[in-house]
Amino acid sequence: MRLLITLGVLVPTCFAGWLIWQSAGGAAEAGGSTPTLMPLPQDPESREGSAGSGGEPGGGGGSDAAGGKPLKGMTVVIDPGHNPNNRYHAAEINRSVSIGTGRKECDTTGTATASGYSEAKFTLDLARRVRAGLRERGATVKLTQDGRRPWGPCVDDRAEAGNRADADAVVSLHADGAPAGRRGFHVIIPESVKEGRADTRAVAGPSRRLGRELADSFREFTGSKPASYAGDGNGTDTRGDLGGLNLTRVPKVFLECGNMRDPRDAADLTDRSWRDRAARGVVEGLAGFLTEKR
Ligand SMILES: [Zn+2]
Repeated sequence: MRLLITLGVLVPTCFAGWLIWQSAGGAAEAGGSTPTLMPLPQDPESREGSAGSGGEPGGGGGSDAAGGKPLKGMTVVIDPGHNPNNRYHAAEINRSVSIGTGRKECDTTGTATASGYSEAKFTLDLARRVRAGLRERGATVKLTQDGRRPWGPCVDDRAEAGNRADADAVVSLHADGAPAGRRGFHVIIPESVKEGRADTRAVAGPSRRLGRELADSFREFTGSKPASYAGDGNGTDTRGDLGGLNLTRVPKVFLECGNMRDPRDAADLTDRSWRDRAARGVVEGLAGFLTEKR
């Protein structure tokens, strides 16, 4: 499913530009199109704090109707996987970094659709939409990169960004590069590991709850099905080989939104209105997790 191909291997044999992008699993990305702000009402009299008390924005943005900022005081870090310019920085992104259980490339190029829409552009676009939705709910939102870096950051720095922010939740956004015909989304949850710099024992449980909320909400808002080719068939997978997860000290998951190499999934991923719904699904999933946490 995820072709973990390093540039070092691919570059020499690569012919079409975007074939280089056939990798994944890792993390980075950037540089997208102009995000459309989600049409949530801006309530001028929203009082901080109070708002949707009992918590949980489940359905269609219902908590907004309460006129509050239900996520006030919460910090969320969104990690747009890969960086569109990684392909120009092979030396930088191929250097290895410690992920506790071993070493991994600093970052990877990510995948792309057959028409050349890169995973990195997708993740940055989606991250900005998610940021807009979370901010409207009062959350403090940070992106690990916002399209202004020449490459990366490295996966260990991406994890560190969540730790430094003492984030209440972190979501790393990706899309898969599996063979055409394999469809659907899945959420990757950190395995409980303790090795070297990696210690996810305290956050594996909360991350699993976050992952479940996200999977359910993403499915509801996009209509996408859980990937049948990865994980447990219910939209979640648990892994101990990703630096971005191994090094987290706060609840964190990866969301693989679909398979860029499948034409039907690609049609969704390249559609702005689908990305709006996807963003809403991510926002609602996060909101469900965060309000539960209060
Ligand atoms: Zn990726």
